Amino acid sequence: MNFLDLPPELHLLIFKSLTMEDILKLRITCTHFFQMFPQITHEQLLEAESTAWASEKNLYACRYCLRLRPACQFADRMLGRGRTRLGTDRDKRFCVECGVKPRDGPPRYGPGSQFTFQGQACVICILCHQFRPAAFNSDGRGTRHCEVCWSGRIRLPAKEPPSIT
Ligand SMILES: [Zn+2]
Ligand SMILES: [Zn+2]
Repeated sequence: MNFLDLPPELHLLIFKSLTMEDILKLRITCTHFFQMFPQITHEQLLEAESTAWASEKNLYACRYCLRLRPACQFADRMLGRGRTRLGTDRDKRFCVECGVKPRDGPPRYGPGSQFTFQGQACVICILCHQFRPAAFNSDGRGTRHCEVCWSGRIRLPAKEPPSIT
């Protein structure tokens, strides 16, 4: 007999004996399970995040999509200071995907936001509103524009060594 053929009451009974880690793994396995499970709370995710399993897989909780996501899905600052695995502000962490999605609620990354993602300076471009690598001005400072808009905007001269007069 297939596990999925068991009555839902039995499923629920079995799920109650599972750890959060088991549940998260099952949810990934199949959409049937995904729909069947009650929505996992942020607290449960944070609890799961501190398990050896999550730590080994380098997974972190996102407060908005309520998923455990790999570290590469978060801006560098989201995993530093208080937002480390057991950090006091870890409940404020959200993934880049959620950060760039405009939605109601507390402020996330809006046009002009600058942050570092996988060591790369990124920006939600103030002109095109795209999430892209940030352009740098002639002083080497990050701007609020993406490279495309920045170069279109001020027509950077071709790179030439400065002439000494
Ligand atoms: Zn997210
Ligand atoms: Zn742009």
